[in-house]
Amino acid sequence: MSYGLAYAGAESEYNDAEAVIFGIPYDHTACFKAGAREAPTAIRRASYNFEEIHFEHGIHQRRLEVYDYGNCDDFILPEDMFAEVDFAVRPAINDGKFTVAIGGEHSINIPIVRAFPEKSIALISIDAHLDSRGEYLGTPNSHACVMRRAAEHLGLDNVYVLGARAIGEEELDRDDVVPFISSYDIMDMGIEKAIGKALDEVKAEKVYLTVDIDGIDPAFAPGTGTPEPFGLMPMDVKKVINIIGERLVGFDVNEVCPPADPSGITSILAARLINEALAVHAKHL
Ligand code: MN
Ligand code: MN
Repeated sequence: MSYGLAYAGAESEYNDAEAVIFGIPYDHTACFKAGAREAPTAIRRASYNFEEIHFEHGIHQRRLEVYDYGNCDDFILPEDMFAEVDFAVRPAINDGKFTVAIGGEHSINIPIVRAFPEKSIALISIDAHLDSRGEYLGTPNSHACVMRRAAEHLGLDNVYVLGARAIGEEELDRDDVVPFISSYDIMDMGIEKAIGKALDEVKAEKVYLTVDIDGIDPAFAPGTGTPEPFGLMPMDVKKVINIIGERLVGFDVNEVCPPADPSGITSILAARLINEALAVHAKHL
């Protein structure tokens, strides 16, 4: 754990906290451009840009008691990062805290999902990619394998990707394709219908939302390792968080790459999405 600037408004102690924020500065399986290790700090700094309330959730809305754990230690091998995340995050999940993790690359989601009991949650992912490979560049724990690992723990009927548009042949030419709705179909059907379909089809009642920032169009989120045109709108993701609503039990945002984000706008969007998840959780307490 490292100490530095805490997330804006995260002033509680652990025992009093309803939500806990973790930074997981890991990017060693990134294939195109590293730098996501800098995101927890950049996103915490960006969190000071906002009003304390978001009026659309009610001007007197109760705000959560939030504790910022700081950053997990960094390691080279994903398996070592998994052990560190398990050590940090599993107790908070067991204590019934709403967990918010700031990546790092998308592989930070693998140990978080495993900290929940098997088949107890559904994992919905916002991502340009399906991340459903068995292994990638010699490791089953790459950020390109997140949804395949989640399906092993939660069941194929408890994973869903929204916004996918860059998918490998080996991800589609198989019997156990990870369920998804492409960004092209979302543009046609609307995000409300798309998230409604995902929520109807997953089996578990509780939902964890993982936001790979490259799911959003690079015009709005340019600072990421593998930008992919034709993405979702930021407002789409805000709506997804709100429609999941009381079913939401945890949230992470990953693949923000500050060295590729000179204006800082990608970190600002990531922080605003974290605030949205916290506000929606508070509304349903
Ligand atoms: Mn992606
Ligand atoms: Mn991803």
